Amino acid sequence: MENTLNDLYRDILLDHYKYPRGNRSVESPDIENEGQNPLCGDSLKIQARIKDGKVEDIGIKCTGCAICSASSSMLAEIIIGKSITTVRELTNFVKRLIKGDEKHGSNEFELGDLEALEGVRKFPVRIKCALLSWTTLSDGLDAWEKGEEIKVSSTE
Ligand code: ZN
Repeated sequence: MENTLNDLYRDILLDHYKYPRGNRSVESPDIENEGQNPLCGDSLKIQARIKDGKVEDIGIKCTGCAICSASSSMLAEIIIGKSITTVRELTNFVKRLIKGDEKHGSNEFELGDLEALEGVRKFPVRIKCALLSWTTLSDGLDAWEKGEEIKVSSTE
């Protein structure tokens, strides 16, 4: 983990890395997708069960660096119980936040720990690590909505 990340952000990221939320398999998932970031060697699998238009359960198994694991953990924590529409909006927002096109506080979302991901943009090589879980989730959602077979998502 980079020492120059501000201390608060670093502590939040490390906490999620050490104690990943949602690190489990989901029974009879509606959405299932795998993501890979060959640049860093990160790989993860997302499963989610949808009920009444909401994410009833979500699990992410991540094998990757601290940033990728922390980002996955934050995703699992914030997405559970949210409607598909909100998940879409949130996912798009977080992608822009990580890339540096957006600041926290510039929308209505209660970002909580997710604000820490804003710190990642200072380290371009880490941006793909932070993005992987969010990209994998949106691709999984796309496939599920279209009723298509799911392919493995890649950051490349
Ligand atoms: Zn990584």
